[in-house]
Amino acid sequence: MEKESLWNKCLVYFKERIPEQAYQTWFDGIAISTLTSEEIVLQVPNQFHYEWLESKYRHLIDAAIKDVFDKPLIVNYSVVVSHKKPNEIPSLVQKENVIPPGYQEKTQLNSRYLFDNFIEGKGNQLAKAASYSVAERPGQTPFNPLLIYSITGLGKTHLLQAIGNFCIRRYPSMRVQYLTSEKFMLDFIKAIQENKSTEFAGAYRGVDMLLLDDVQFFQKKEQTQEQFFHLFNELYQQGKQIVLTTDRPPNELTGLKDRLISRFQSGLMVDIQPPDLETRIAILSKKAHDDHLEIPFEIIEYIASHIKRNVRELEGTMVRLLARSSLYRKDITMELAREVLEEILGREAFIGVTIDHVIKSTSKEWKVSERQLVGKGRKMEIAMARQIAMYLSRELTGASLFNIGLHLGGRDHSTVIHACKTVEKKMSNDNELKKRILRLKNELQPVGGISTY
Ligand code: ADP
Ligand code: MG
Repeated sequence: MEKESLWNKCLVYFKERIPEQAYQTWFDGIAISTLTSEEIVLQVPNQFHYEWLESKYRHLIDAAIKDVFDKPLIVNYSVVVSHKKPNEIPSLVQKENVIPPGYQEKTQLNSRYLFDNFIEGKGNQLAKAASYSVAERPGQTPFNPLLIYSITGLGKTHLLQAIGNFCIRRYPSMRVQYLTSEKFMLDFIKAIQENKSTEFAGAYRGVDMLLLDDVQFFQKKEQTQEQFFHLFNELYQQGKQIVLTTDRPPNELTGLKDRLISRFQSGLMVDIQPPDLETRIAILSKKAHDDHLEIPFEIIEYIASHIKRNVRELEGTMVRLLARSSLYRKDITMELAREVLEEILGREAFIGVTIDHVIKSTSKEWKVSERQLVGKGRKMEIAMARQIAMYLSRELTGASLFNIGLHLGGRDHSTVIHACKTVEKKMSNDNELKKRILRLKNELQPVGGISTY
């Protein structure tokens, strides 16, 4: 059978198993470029698309291949380098660029995490510098163990993997092992079940560098901690480098044995703080560049100034923007970016002011209780304050007329429109009232407009 029709069978397999929208976004345009008895090469529009398939759909792709070809195949990807949309590229100008799968089974290292693509900023400078020194001179700095901690999504795993990737390149004979704490525990449990705990203990003792991610996972797992404690001591005594990450400072790791915590504290502890605006912009720009994506700077700046908590969210926002753009075949514009941001942050949070805020301040200013304001009472002062609240909500919150009506007395949208007109008219006739409303409006409005947290 031709490779295309075999691949079409795979596509049907995907289509039957994932939501239509996901299928359209991630599989619809994917063509097969090479098929041998061992390997299949898929054509993807950019690096980002490939990473997404690898991280989210790899199991599904493997399952489809097994189903259609009756055996597993090595999956590779080729990126079509072009600035046009994938479905418009004539096959003659395609330039292929095969990406080896980034993930190495034995060391558990993924070659996409490098020092080179880790953007440095105030919040992570120290962590990066420390990581770099232990990578250069493993086991020979005072930073043993090195412990990196931060809330989620700030680059701990990235740095840990970067250390490993650096070392296997510079010191090819070095045995580097990356491992999540969860895997450590699961392997340990399995070993106990199979009566192989001695082998388990032996397996990790032979490594030259142990990179253990998310140690908070050991909380309350006493047996696992015990195992790890011995492993730690043994490696440490042999001068092997140990690098750990946790999601909080070690002294806040409740449910972890004191002696383990004091081991963690015996080397260097560094934290990572959320990136500032410039760093966020740099991270997004670099990501866009590495993925061969052309995203206007103003859009990158726009996303970076709204998504502040962590880098994963920042990347997630861009993923969504790209998915949206490819799904609807729309260009990446400010408008599209705004839509996506509103979805992520919630329309009201995004605009900054909520109907609730408006209700609170209007109630205070016009000395009408909040209950009266959101109720149905028609007494003149109440009805008037309610109209003002409707007006301010429309001006400030970006909420729909329907929602405004719903929150303020359960009215329909035409009542809200009427209220806004009435207030505007009154404002143009009554200077005092106008001043009062505008003052409230200014108080409610966040400085500089949209940013909220
Ligand atoms: P953590 O382990 O702290 O939860 P990760 O290392 O998984 O966070 O980082 C989340 C995502 O953000 C990853 O895709 C990572 O590559 C990216 N990232 C985090 N910090 C940076 C940075 N400073 N420069 C570039 N990418 C970063
Ligand atoms: Mg992590």
